[in-house]
Amino acid sequence: MTEYSVEAHGLTKYFEGFTAVDHVSLEVPAGSIYGVLGPNGAGKTTTLRMMLGIVDPDAGTSRLLGNHKPQSVRSRVGYLPEERGLYPGMKAREAIAFMGALRGLDWAEGRRRAAIFMAELGLERVIDEKIRKMSKGMAQMVQLIGSIIHAPDLIVLDEPFSGLDPVNQERLEMLVRRERERGATILFSTHVMAHAERLCDRIAIIARSARRFEGTVDQARALLPMQVRYTPRD
Ligand code: ATP
Repeated sequence: MTEYSVEAHGLTKYFEGFTAVDHVSLEVPAGSIYGVLGPNGAGKTTTLRMMLGIVDPDAGTSRLLGNHKPQSVRSRVGYLPEERGLYPGMKAREAIAFMGALRGLDWAEGRRRAAIFMAELGLERVIDEKIRKMSKGMAQMVQLIGSIIHAPDLIVLDEPFSGLDPVNQERLEMLVRRERERGATILFSTHVMAHAERLCDRIAIIARSARRFEGTVDQARALLPMQVRYTPRD
């Protein structure tokens, strides 16, 4: 029997008279890399937020890591929100340790792991740099590392590729693959099919508030017209 890290059924959200998310269901197999694709405004962020318990659904249910209460599995989940933000006065290493501490990781262990991650990604030169001095893309990499530093079982990344240059996009891909090898499940949203094709086992396409496709990347390749599959890169 397949084990699922995320089981969302019929998630629905209304905002001031319009339906932002319309009965969206997602089942993310444990240990997989899963992509949620769709254009701007499709409803991806709202769907992820409902799954994580940040936004209350108007209808539908979701279970994270087998649990109906997202708060009770908080320390086992890593989340990169769409709106990025770190304390500008913190150095990269502190920011990462701080994010880990918010999810229950020991501060010294967070600092130790931060150094390892940064070195592995070739980012050691910025480890003692303050966030306010960094480019947006570099700060995003720091926040990404911070969101997974506590070795979560489920990692949810909202548009993680947006705003990254090709070198950092490759670093992100490497991190995602490495986290999966460690045993984590990764769910990320994107509006670029090429990112999903390179990484994902399965994808769901959300457009105009509803799920329009769900399946493997190979099924998507066979079924979807070229103009849908190849939207321009960021
Ligand atoms: P993007 O890639 O642009 O972030 P998305 O697929 O993540 O798009 P959402 O952010 O979920 O889409 O937004 C879906 C729709 O709901 C959009 O039309 C958005 O403007 C609207 N929306 C989102 N949050 C709110 C809110 N708090 N109040 C009113 N409308 C909202």
